Amino acid sequence: MQEYTLARKTELSERVQAVQEDLAEAAKKAGRAPSDVTLVAVSKLHPASDIAALADAGHLDFGENYVQEAAGKQEALQGLDVRWHFIGGLQSNKAKFVAGNFELVHSVDSLKLAKKLAAKAAERGTVQDVLIQASLAGEEQKSGAEADELERLVAEASELDGLRVRGLMTMPPFFDEPERARPFFARLRELREGIGQRLGISLPHLSMGMTGDFVPAVEEGATLVRVGTRIFGARPPK
Ligand SMILES: *Cc1c(COP(=O)(O)O)cnc(C)c1O
Repeated sequence: MQEYTLARKTELSERVQAVQEDLAEAAKKAGRAPSDVTLVAVSKLHPASDIAALADAGHLDFGENYVQEAAGKQEALQGLDVRWHFIGGLQSNKAKFVAGNFELVHSVDSLKLAKKLAAKAAERGTVQDVLIQASLAGEEQKSGAEADELERLVAEASELDGLRVRGLMTMPPFFDEPERARPFFARLRELREGIGQRLGISLPHLSMGMTGDFVPAVEEGATLVRVGTRIFGARPPK
């Protein structure tokens, strides 16, 4: 792995600090404790050295989207006490590379994927924590379970040995104006409350909010925000 420079470490940790301050302000505004919101630094397409720099500065939650890239970074950073989050679209035939290797999988969008993750995790003697991804934007959004299928997917995934459903995730369409994403965040919170109550299960987590819209997401109840660009800068093309 490439060494990081002190300048890069300082730059990255200042940006994380700035995001944490905005998160804390949004949380307080909503009457929530800042410590109830975890910042997941989305490091996809950025080098492992950036992760090492932030981990050495004390930031430990990182989000990755691509199985192979993530595995390479995990291998390179073995000694570090990092909490890895899988946040990208995942084909069920790749579940075996993910199960048991991530603290939390945010992007479970089908029963087929849930079953594969559960089976692999059980085989490895572990339980995989997951979120169920909701698609709330209709036609223009491909990934995630539609609102009317969401409850059934949560119910069925919750029954699987090897899997523990911890909450919901969503990604609203991109808006220039972050306030326009707010209704999607509010909707996810309502779905979480309704589904949790009807199924009698606890769904503590809501993963929502990215660089452009994490403030309204936190105000609407996000417990995990996934922020990439604001921390690492623009991503190189994949
Ligand atoms: C890339 C990505 C992010 C981070 O997006 P930024 O706008 O760079 O903060 C968050 N969530 C998911 C699911 C992503 O794929």
